[in-house]
Amino acid sequence: SRSVLCVRAFSRTYATATSPHALVFIEHRHGVIDSGSLSALTAAEQLGGQVSGLVVGGPDHVHSVVDKVKMLKGITSVLHSTSPQYVEPLPETLSPLFEKLLSNSSPFTHVVSATSSTAKSLLPRVAAKLDVPAVSDVTSLEHDPATGSTTFTRPIYAGNAIATVRAPGSVAIKFFTVRGTAFAAAASQEGSNAEVKAVDAVEVSDSPTQHLKTTITKSDRPDLGVASRVVSGGRALKNAETFASTLYPLADALGAAVGASRAAVDAGYADNSLQVGQTGKVVAPELYMALGISGAIQHLAGMKDSKLIVAVNKDPDAPIFQVADVGLVADLFDVVPELVEKLKK
Ligand code: FAD
Repeated sequence: SRSVLCVRAFSRTYATATSPHALVFIEHRHGVIDSGSLSALTAAEQLGGQVSGLVVGGPDHVHSVVDKVKMLKGITSVLHSTSPQYVEPLPETLSPLFEKLLSNSSPFTHVVSATSSTAKSLLPRVAAKLDVPAVSDVTSLEHDPATGSTTFTRPIYAGNAIATVRAPGSVAIKFFTVRGTAFAAAASQEGSNAEVKAVDAVEVSDSPTQHLKTTITKSDRPDLGVASRVVSGGRALKNAETFASTLYPLADALGAAVGASRAAVDAGYADNSLQVGQTGKVVAPELYMALGISGAIQHLAGMKDSKLIVAVNKDPDAPIFQVADVGLVADLFDVVPELVEKLKK
């Protein structure tokens, strides 16, 4: 069972309690807002103050994203900045823009983003430059307007303990990243009073890092990170061919995304992007099917918050059965084809 760890945190002092005003970094790809950013918005709204979205990118997509962001529930203003350097943003090219926005006259008390690859390198960089704390992978928060302190919970030790950390009111700007599965996605609403403001880009001429190319894994199946159903396979699937021929028909019959254990990924049965767990993706779908997965603690860290967990395993003592709502001790190569036939009917 989970234990709760309380950690007193942060002692930097130079501000008094003010009404919260969050700056939320809104990530998007080709005009589509990342679902993690929508969860970050919901978390920011829970601070109880103003919420500004920040959209950066090239001229092709920024304005269409801004139009979508200003319609999101909870948004009070949208800042946007356009530069060729922001088409594929790097921490080195984006951090000067954040530093400008967070300079002495800044109204912002919190900087919020999804726990994404970009934000994981960007936010700590900016926080370190400003010498303020950053809290990552937050699953809940509570802001105290009287003291200006914000208390966060975040999973540690692969989700086996929950740390409670507090950034006191004396910290001028609190940075945090949000675990997407812990906060609902902000919804769109009719009508918007949100103010929209352009911010000049801060061009970086001597970035030590340059973006060369992005290779996106293409799939006709739902995105693993946001799918409501996930069918995952483990080492038991034997090889890449049987992984595909066994799991994909079931995923297709259920309209599910495909996931994999690290053993299956390391053995080359499935792409890296499908790994679920501590060092893979964290998912919390309505239905998670674990097929031929033992249920190692590092795998559970990525799926145990799923609403309904179904496990099929030959070993009645497999640890996956300790978290499963429905468990079947059976050979998956018998069960899965039968299930697919029944689903098709
Ligand atoms: P196994 O543990 O080998 O289990 C295979 C299971 O299949 C067994 O339970 C077996 O009974 C069952 N089985 C065999 N044949 C059949 C059949 N025909 N029908 C039904 N059942 C069958 N793992 C992750 O998944 N995600 C991570 O992010 C991750 N991160 C890690 C990080 C670190 C630092 C470390 C040290 C490990 C990490 N791991 C991760 C690895 C993890 O510890 C396990 O090794 C891995 O999850 C095991 O994968 P598996 O369950 O597919 O394989």
